Amino acid sequence: MRGSTRMTALLLGLLAGPALAQTTVLTAARIHTMDTAQPLAQAMAYDASGKILAVGSTGELQARYPQARRLDVGSATVVPGLIDAHAHVGGLGFAMMSADLVGTASKAEVLARLRENAKGLKPGEWLVGRGWDQNDWPEKTFPNAADLDAAFPDRPVWLSRIDGHAGWANSAAMRAVKRDLTGSWQPDGGSIQRDAAGTPNGIFIDNAMLLLEEARPASSEATAERALVLGMQAAVAHGLTGVHDAGISLDELHRYQRLADRGAMPLRIYAMADGNAAALESLCKGGLYRHASGRLQMRAVKLYADGALGSRGAAMLEDYSDDHGNRGLLLMSAQELADASAKAKRCGVQAATHAIGDRGNRLTLDTYAHALGKDAAGDHRWRVEHAQILAPADLSRFAGMHVIASMQPTHATSDMPWAQERVGTQRIVGAYAWRQLRDSGARLAFGSDFPVESVDPRLGLYSAVSRADGEGKPAGGWMPQEKLTAYEALRAFTLDAAYAGFAESELGSLAPGKRADFVVLAQDPLAVPDAALKALTVLATYVDGKAVYEAPVR
Ligand SMILES: [Zn+2]
Repeated sequence: MRGSTRMTALLLGLLAGPALAQTTVLTAARIHTMDTAQPLAQAMAYDASGKILAVGSTGELQARYPQARRLDVGSATVVPGLIDAHAHVGGLGFAMMSADLVGTASKAEVLARLRENAKGLKPGEWLVGRGWDQNDWPEKTFPNAADLDAAFPDRPVWLSRIDGHAGWANSAAMRAVKRDLTGSWQPDGGSIQRDAAGTPNGIFIDNAMLLLEEARPASSEATAERALVLGMQAAVAHGLTGVHDAGISLDELHRYQRLADRGAMPLRIYAMADGNAAALESLCKGGLYRHASGRLQMRAVKLYADGALGSRGAAMLEDYSDDHGNRGLLLMSAQELADASAKAKRCGVQAATHAIGDRGNRLTLDTYAHALGKDAAGDHRWRVEHAQILAPADLSRFAGMHVIASMQPTHATSDMPWAQERVGTQRIVGAYAWRQLRDSGARLAFGSDFPVESVDPRLGLYSAVSRADGEGKPAGGWMPQEKLTAYEALRAFTLDAAYAGFAESELGSLAPGKRADFVVLAQDPLAVPDAALKALTVLATYVDGKAVYEAPVR
């Protein structure tokens, strides 16, 4: 008996030895699992493939897995990997590769940074930068092309403003535009600034920026791939284990696929096909897409109802309070939106529509109701991206139609200085209304919209609970009745963001059978004061049980 038991044990040891050796038991001061069955634990075991085997107490799991690799993070707190439910990975990477003009205190400083950046460029290659803000300069007025022409007579220079809603070109860049920019014509939804003689002065607002963007040569495949890699690296360095990439082309999907094939994706990308175009067509023809690695999938389409509030492009039911006669604009017509939504429904694709103004949101909800028909009550998980300004009558429709509100807390705290001027005291009550939406039963998925806002999800958590800027202003928060608790905000960045990507059975919480995607934080986000959320220390980020980011040892 004894002998045979020993033999069995030896045999088991031989068979299970290597696998057991690769099982890991992680121990921490606390693990906030976001799993209501067991919200708090001190230990978690996961296998070599990154599947969670058990969650529990340290003693229990170390006894159950005596040969497992031990990973003790000491006094740190572990939470599920954060998921940014709306962002632009390539956009962030390109922003990181362009000249950084954020914080420049004068035009002279801008020129100094540009000269430095130009050293790495080939002759004639476009010099692209972003982040200038004339409000930070002594003269506080818009710059012009002549400011750049002396230093860069031949090289096209194109610099977007801090908010991305204005661009500053030199004469070489304007010469690259095919269309004659002189005269008095203006593009829809944009403005070309000109002198009295009708000559453009180098400043392009909103859609007028497209004239320059289209004149820029397309980036090389290698550059576009590098942008994705840089964007993903920045994401994991901030504790993100997943990003919903809100609108990519078929080319971009192929670029991601090549990275996934090479095992070069540090986190999970949930991609949305951009508009009613080739990528959506590929989903309709070839079916919903998922890479075998689990790091990449596409089963959603990004549609566009209206513009943005800052440039008064958001579609409003009534006039803008600070611009009478203007009700904003629709980016897709009601018919185009209806056709695209019907196509999504037909192909089993999740619709995710950008809607900012109350008219944009109502149109989106009406369109969804029509396209989904009786299935509106089902598990379609269609989403409204931003859901920024809602008419009171439309608020409860999100819960009623099971539509997910995909919102960005930092948009509220970035827009709060001027949002009420745009929409007035009545409509502001339905703006950035995540508390009202949550209490009405709607599901919230949180993101950042990076690079429009920072990639850093700590800022989103902080904005959601404080409704205040980085300095804590206004005291007590802006429209403080909309504040969430830290737990609710974390849930929107984890479990409910996973739900918005049909992944809550695999991701978003730490429970047996799910993936070991988690973040190690030096502080406990559910115990620190609100103001400390923006200063949490990300010690490490794990995807499938493997570290994809570790903070440098100081
Ligand atoms: Zn976006």
